[in-house]
Amino acid sequence: MSENKVEKCVIIGSGPAGYTAAVYAARAAMDPVLYQGSQPGGQLTITNDVENFPGYPKGINGPSMMMEFQEQAQRFGTDIRHGMVTAVDFSQRPFKLTIDEKDEVLAHSVIISTGASAKWLGLESEQRLNSKGVSACAICDGFFYRGMDVVVVGGGDSAAEESTYLAKLCNKVYLLVRRDELRASKIMQERVLETKNLEVLWNTETVEVLGDEEVEGVRVKNNKTGEEKDIPAKGFFVAIGHKPNTDIFKDQLDMDETGYLKVEPGTSKTKIPGVYVSGDAADKVYRQAVTAAGTGCMAALDAERYLAAEKVI
Ligand code: NDP
Repeated sequence: MSENKVEKCVIIGSGPAGYTAAVYAARAAMDPVLYQGSQPGGQLTITNDVENFPGYPKGINGPSMMMEFQEQAQRFGTDIRHGMVTAVDFSQRPFKLTIDEKDEVLAHSVIISTGASAKWLGLESEQRLNSKGVSACAICDGFFYRGMDVVVVGGGDSAAEESTYLAKLCNKVYLLVRRDELRASKIMQERVLETKNLEVLWNTETVEVLGDEEVEGVRVKNNKTGEEKDIPAKGFFVAIGHKPNTDIFKDQLDMDETGYLKVEPGTSKTKIPGVYVSGDAADKVYRQAVTAAGTGCMAALDAERYLAAEKVI
């Protein structure tokens, strides 16, 4: 890489959004450079089977699927690089990006696909049994627990949505709420309370996820009475929120109070022409691989139009 080279398009992130943006950008002669970040392949690499991505009728495991995304992006010439974008400067043109706190890269356009990370409780057993019954996505993994008993943790809209979704598939759902009320919207609260096979355990916290090779139950504690008990369950779903990976864009791009980047509705455009967002970094509602891929495509098309208008391509 020559010192003063200005890349036409730099994509930050290697989940479905980033790789889809790369496929489109590479095929549009934008010579994209993609930085993979700290978790190459993104959130899907910590998922087992993906059965809801169209085009895989037999399902595919998350890491294999992300290898295929990467291969497809490489096939058209995407320059895929290890490394983390640790700072950006969108106040100057070309834009300046810092890689791993040392190298600098200049870019005419940037596509942000940094995703979001599920929040976890921080228990050793939760980490050990991740993908062996512990999940942060009911829509992705709920199907594997049909007819079984599962436990969900959380009290917000995500927990309400995931527990009611699971109640349609599972025999019984326990929702662990650490206070004596839900934070979720009124309508979601009503849905939770009206669902017959969904039992809310108030003032209840997780002590430990039980099981050696896979989840067999959950030890819980009532934080008012101190009473502990074990709930037999095959699945443990953590739904205590997500954190978008957008810290490096603070003060440069508009974001909501929780850090999700704001885009012009129906587009991937930020307030800075030449900077686009795709995937979960701007989506706290849908958060699916297929929606991330869709917005990755949008970001590449928006960037292509910008670069053409600027006569870069
Ligand atoms: P929230 O931050 O709204 O809720 C997190 C929940 O998890 C809270 O009830 C919180 O408890 C609980 N929690 C946090 N940490 C722990 C812990 N360590 N142990 C146990 N419980 C814990 O996150 P959501 O993901 O639910 O929602 C994020 C945003 O996305 C919200 O604005 C929501 O409205 C929106 N959303 C909208 C949807 C829709 O419109 N369909 C669907 C999903 C989300 P406490 O209440 O005690 O703090």
